[in-house]
Amino acid sequence: MSTVAEASPTAPKARWTHQWKELYEEVIDSGLCTGCAGCVIACPHDVIGYHHAEGEYKPFHLEEELGHADCVHGQKGCTSCTRACPRFRTWESDANEHLFDAQREPGDMSGIYSDILLVRASDEMVLRMGQDGGLVSAILIWAMEHDYIDGALTSFLDGAAGDWKAKPGVAANRDEVLASAGSRYTYSANTLAIDEARERGLSKLALVGMSCQSSVPPVMWHRKAGKVSKPIVFNIGLLCSKTFDDAIFAELFWAKYRLAKQDMVKMNIKGVFQIWMRDGTYHEINLKECHAWTREGCTHCPDFAAEHADISCGGIGENADWTLTIVRTELGREIIKRMIADGSIETRPGDDDPGAIALMHKLAAKSRARWPAWADDQVRLGLPEKKKR
Ligand SMILES: Cc1cc2nc3c(=O)[nH]c(=O)nc-3n(C[C@H](O)[C@H](O)[C@H](O)COP(=O)(O)OP(=O)(O)OC[C@H]3O[C@@H](n4cnc5c(N)ncnc54)[C@H](O)[C@@H]3O)c2cc1C
Ligand code: SF4
Ligand code: SF4
Repeated sequence: MSTVAEASPTAPKARWTHQWKELYEEVIDSGLCTGCAGCVIACPHDVIGYHHAEGEYKPFHLEEELGHADCVHGQKGCTSCTRACPRFRTWESDANEHLFDAQREPGDMSGIYSDILLVRASDEMVLRMGQDGGLVSAILIWAMEHDYIDGALTSFLDGAAGDWKAKPGVAANRDEVLASAGSRYTYSANTLAIDEARERGLSKLALVGMSCQSSVPPVMWHRKAGKVSKPIVFNIGLLCSKTFDDAIFAELFWAKYRLAKQDMVKMNIKGVFQIWMRDGTYHEINLKECHAWTREGCTHCPDFAAEHADISCGGIGENADWTLTIVRTELGREIIKRMIADGSIETRPGDDDPGAIALMHKLAAKSRARWPAWADDQVRLGLPEKKKR
């Protein structure tokens, strides 16, 4: 039962004392952790480790004094990791309050937004290199040219061409943006590229990331996670229902279909897993078959539509070379409006493809249903109540 003091709007806010111990119990051990690495980059003592590798993508504690589930610095008052975590307690309402000064209504399955558009890059090279309409790459190039950002935390392919291992990295010019364009469907914790950005002296950054990662900046800003959040000034989210573990290449694509990753030239997900090979052949693999390789961090993820990005981008719908674009914040609107005005992008109303919008809301509801009933119930707002056993 709440006390009068707690209910009063003038009551002082409780002091934030939560540290790694609570993060470990409530997010990591409970299975809510997405592997976004927000806690890793926020830790001022560098005691949170992370293996960006097959079967891993989870934070762990590097010091052993108090065991893997507690932290000496946390015991002394450090709370940075829980302040940065976009799955800790009231993360969804904290980010909504910070970005929109409003909360999601039950019908807002895809989060709060102002406009939906279909967009593609006017620059032919950017359009060709992009996964869908090349909008993400077009925005990054434009935002660098117009001094909104001096670099972006994004994702590249590791090693030699043909190795489909995604790795976080920094794009700070047109060539680097184009080198990072396109989608890989294994995980890339792009937040981790912040160290490289710092080393390169960059101070105004865009974060490109899947839904889980795009909640990191607003949660950090709202909970005052410290200087780590300051350089991130713009946030582009990718619609996402899951990523696959890297093992899918060897254990399914190669073992069953004899599709070697070094011969793959492009992949996409449009109801099926689509793969284009160097020899010109095209293959479709049923998504149900891929299900067993869903990365563990995705199994409870409730956010399909990257609800806390300035602009969220996806590829669903009947128009292959257009990016379904959800504009959410004032900053997102300003950038899209200026890009339309100077001809950097072509747009069509989202209503040109009502099926895509309906599908987005449907997939958003499906993802929300993965959020456990025992966790923060705000996230399931709008879903039918789970039947009690
Ligand atoms: C793992 C994943 C799952 C997705 N699932 C869906 C979905 O279910 N439905 C849907 O409509 N859209 C989904 N998308 C989004 C879609 O694939 C496109 O990224 C989006 O439409 C933008 O296209 P674009 O041409 O504008 O982007 P581009 O200009 O091609 O830019 C894409 C950007 O994404 C970054 N990126 C690529 N792969 C990764 C990765 N693995 N992790 C982090 N960043 C990455 C690139 O570095 C680049 O900056 C998914 C994307 C990813 C990466
Ligand atoms: S969800 Fe992200 S911030 Fe939270 S514990 Fe996992 S990796 Fe860390
Ligand atoms: S489904 Fe996508 S957004 Fe959710 S945890 Fe997995 S990678 Fe992140």
